[in-house]
Amino acid sequence: MQFIDLAAQQKRIRRQLDERIKKVLDHGQYVLGPEIRELEDKLAAFVDMPFAVSVASGTDALLMPLMAEKAGPGDAVFAPTFTFIATAGAIALSGATPVFVDSDPETFNIDPDELEKSIRKTIAAKKFVPKGIIPVDLFGQPADYRAIQAIADKYGLFVLEDAAQSFGASQNGKKAGALAAIGATSFFPAKPLGCYGDGGMIFTADKDMNEQLLSIRVHGQGTDKYTNVRVGINGRMDSLQAAVLLAKLEIFPEEIELRQQVAGRYDRLLAGAVKIQKVLQENVSAWAQYSVLHPRRDQVIKKLREKSIPTAIYYPIPLHLQEAFSGLGYDRGDFPVAEKIAGEVFSLPFHPYLDEQTQEEIAAAVQSA
Ligand SMILES: *Cc1c(COP(=O)(O)O)cnc(C)c1O
Repeated sequence: MQFIDLAAQQKRIRRQLDERIKKVLDHGQYVLGPEIRELEDKLAAFVDMPFAVSVASGTDALLMPLMAEKAGPGDAVFAPTFTFIATAGAIALSGATPVFVDSDPETFNIDPDELEKSIRKTIAAKKFVPKGIIPVDLFGQPADYRAIQAIADKYGLFVLEDAAQSFGASQNGKKAGALAAIGATSFFPAKPLGCYGDGGMIFTADKDMNEQLLSIRVHGQGTDKYTNVRVGINGRMDSLQAAVLLAKLEIFPEEIELRQQVAGRYDRLLAGAVKIQKVLQENVSAWAQYSVLHPRRDQVIKKLREKSIPTAIYYPIPLHLQEAFSGLGYDRGDFPVAEKIAGEVFSLPFHPYLDEQTQEEIAAAVQSA
């Protein structure tokens, strides 16, 4: 049994993939080739944002807007502690300081009340100046943008949506990636829309932000390649990855539908046995992961492993307890909800092609454990 079955998907679109890849080999524009522009146009239309900038990874998709916003030393950027390291890593790389926030016990996303408390505490402490917020759409479910945007407006902060796990999701009919002024997503192979390597995309409606991102993507270039108006990075996606994504995009909306069916079946089969991530009424999740809580998680995982059912733990250590951020002075107990989730969470095999019989087998194993 596979945790994520990428081969089943490849089998469906192998011919389209081969054709798309062959075209790149024929034209030879491996960097910023025609596929890049085509993908950016299609994904901008998909999320309904005016501008899309393709980049080399989801991490660059987070870092580049922070650079454009001039987040740096002395600035505080707020992020959930229960997320993948890259969210806060990008903040630290920009020179700003990540300020962690506890999670909502039901949705596992950043808790808006805790966010506001954290902002007020930071203002009172006068050590860092609040600059922005990076909410994460954890496991594919959009964070509570209505509440977060109201707080951001009140304190004059930018909001950068970490949609690395939620591409294809929506909130009140609006697509993930377009739920804040800037959206960042990832096309790492295991994400809902994945390429065959690394890739990412930034979405914005702001023309000036778009221009800055295009410059930052190519070493801070000005009007031509050898005038540099700022310090940038090499943040380009390559044409081969765009070709792969274009082939996959054709079946992506259908896959998002299939993900709802697979998640719905798990919800029914697992009711009562584990605590299931609550998806808010206004949300459609992209189901990057199907994650549940159980107080004796390690025991359950062991029982599943004995039956050759793979599981994963996203994430066993919240970021405030990671060695990388030990200099920030956090302690165990600072974020009780996130710490409890990290101690109980595990993810079950999940992909659009997971069949009912296999799901029943997995659920039966969870029930008996
Ligand atoms: C995967 C991920 C990233 C980083 O994406 P990469 O493409 O791996 O650099 C950032 N944030 C979250 C929440 C992620 O899951």
